[in-house]
Amino acid sequence: MDWTRGNTIGHGSFATVSVAKSRFSDDVFAVKSVELSKSQFLHKEQKILSKFSSPYIVSYKGYDVTKDSDKLMFNLMMEYMSDGTLTDAIQKQGGRINEQLIGYYTKQILQGLEYIHSKGIAHCDIKGQNILLVKTGAKIADFGCAKCVDPIGGAVASPSKPIGATPMYMVPEVARGEEQGCPCDIWALGCTIIEMATGGSPWTNVTNPVSLLYRIAFSGESPEIPKFLSLQARDFLSKCLRRDAKERWTAKELLKHPSLEEYYNLNQDFVTSSPTSILDQDIWNSVEESETIDNSIQTISSMNSHLQRVRELNLNSGELNWRWNDDDRWITVRRSSE
Ligand code: ATP
Repeated sequence: MDWTRGNTIGHGSFATVSVAKSRFSDDVFAVKSVELSKSQFLHKEQKILSKFSSPYIVSYKGYDVTKDSDKLMFNLMMEYMSDGTLTDAIQKQGGRINEQLIGYYTKQILQGLEYIHSKGIAHCDIKGQNILLVKTGAKIADFGCAKCVDPIGGAVASPSKPIGATPMYMVPEVARGEEQGCPCDIWALGCTIIEMATGGSPWTNVTNPVSLLYRIAFSGESPEIPKFLSLQARDFLSKCLRRDAKERWTAKELLKHPSLEEYYNLNQDFVTSSPTSILDQDIWNSVEESETIDNSIQTISSMNSHLQRVRELNLNSGELNWRWNDDDRWITVRRSSE
């Protein structure tokens, strides 16, 4: 495909995304690019994305290698998602979105998850920044951390396999270094629903990645379910945020949860005219924003062992990203050994 690179529309931890236009047609698409010598993640993403065909997954359009300013670049071409990320949408709507719209997006994300899980792939990095929006709704993007898993059991990548994830959305079994499979996407979906409902991180009052990992792995806590959500929405979230992966509901089961039934027929008029005014209502004031870390569990020895876990990630990655974002979230951790 002959194409021209346009403006940069996004930066991830390792790639740059630009808008691009075909030279021979009016086709506009997105191109995710990285230097060829550092492109192993993007190769993997290209292989995985090229297998999918679903309205709930960002569509694959091809790949190529180009020479830009004397550097060889690996380019992954995808459908252009004009309305940005779900995280952007939350900010645009005043920091929180209403329950109806949460249900609408949740249903589409779940349909995407059901599709990829049925193909034996776990995404492993579901979060608002990796859900992209167009007029027709939400689609799952960024398969840089995705893994092949057992499509029948639906669950487990070998613990020896390298992991990738965003610590704020990391599931207890992964924080303990045990396994990473389809159930981790369901937990991360629960965290993303909290992000939509509160505009904040699933875990609050977190000061460093070691204590966060410890808390997720061993504290017995799950992220707090916002009390202002309806009973059904809270029930739905409780099924996503079960600490025991075997008890967590699957995407298929969650799609039958009564809280999602009404969102089958929502259309785009609803999304574009979605009342931001509801965000001003008192209902949102009841959100409890703060949560204290149980300091008693952060003993020196366990901190040390958790520090070891962080070191293990670091040692095996060569390029560990524990960066602190502007919005107090940590970004994706990737291991380059994949
Ligand atoms: P991460 O550090 O989260 O793993 P990454 O390097 O894998 O990031 P992406 O998350 O895929 O990169 O993309 C970075 C940003 O580029 C996204 O947050 C989004 O704003 C934008 N972007 C990515 N893909 C598209 C697309 N198909 N259409 C429009 N914008 C996109």
